[in-house]
Amino acid sequence: MDGIVTRFAPSPTGLLHLGHAHSALFARATAGDGRFLLRIEDIDPGRCRPEFEAAILDDLAWLGLSWEEPVRRQSDHLDDYRAAADRLEAMDVLYPCFCTRREIREEIARMGGAPQGPDGPLYPGTCRNLPTAEREARLARGDSHALRLDVEKALDLTGPLAWTDREAGRQQARPGLLGDVALSRKDAPTSYHLAVTVDDHLQGVTLVTRGLDLFPSTHIHSLLQALLGYATPEYWHHRLIEDESGQRLAKRADSKSIRAYRDQGLSPEEVRRLAGFGENSSP
Ligand code: GLU
Repeated sequence: MDGIVTRFAPSPTGLLHLGHAHSALFARATAGDGRFLLRIEDIDPGRCRPEFEAAILDDLAWLGLSWEEPVRRQSDHLDDYRAAADRLEAMDVLYPCFCTRREIREEIARMGGAPQGPDGPLYPGTCRNLPTAEREARLARGDSHALRLDVEKALDLTGPLAWTDREAGRQQARPGLLGDVALSRKDAPTSYHLAVTVDDHLQGVTLVTRGLDLFPSTHIHSLLQALLGYATPEYWHHRLIEDESGQRLAKRADSKSIRAYRDQGLSPEEVRRLAGFGENSSP
């Protein structure tokens, strides 16, 4: 179908494996005659490396993929994310969080547990309730902090939200599933959630394709879209490639990189087939 804009958005924190190949081929196939974009999500300076970015581009080309230039590299666009965070701050839906990981763990233990999110226990909200004077004093002192989204306050502003997944259908947005997510941190000027929402908007992506592991994140992205006045694209969260025992490849320490298959002498067609996209297979 015409007019669709999809993207593949890898983080250059390692070599691509079959799960990534599946995701990239899925996005490309879904775009059909539309546009297929590539975005390098390298906002975490501690984990991303230029050599992985080069290897990703090389492996994708080897698999037979081509994409529209220019490739968007997130680290080149930090001002865009800062501007979005400033807008959210002006709406008073962010609050500074001074907690260290250890303090969060201790607070959760003190509370006798916290609701579980997809990535572990949810942030217990300690700094959301900080007395104003203490908050101001700590900010004035220059204490390092993250900015968290006050999800409940934000939802009060937007009202109930919904989004659509091509496979799972219409979803009532439940941004609280992930708790008050951090939108910027001490060590990273923006979070995945903010950067991905801003980029999909600025790049005009109409259909976001990505793995089912990111399904919960879409609840937060739909909230950010509503706050920032962006249209909500359509989504298609695809299955995750598994090994024979049903374990997700991305989670396996020994999961083979595309590079390893190449070195072993496999052809692009053979690797595409392993990634679920043989000559006659469809997503
Ligand atoms: N950069 C993310 C990852 O590599 C994917 C983000 C997305 O597709 O929204 O897992």
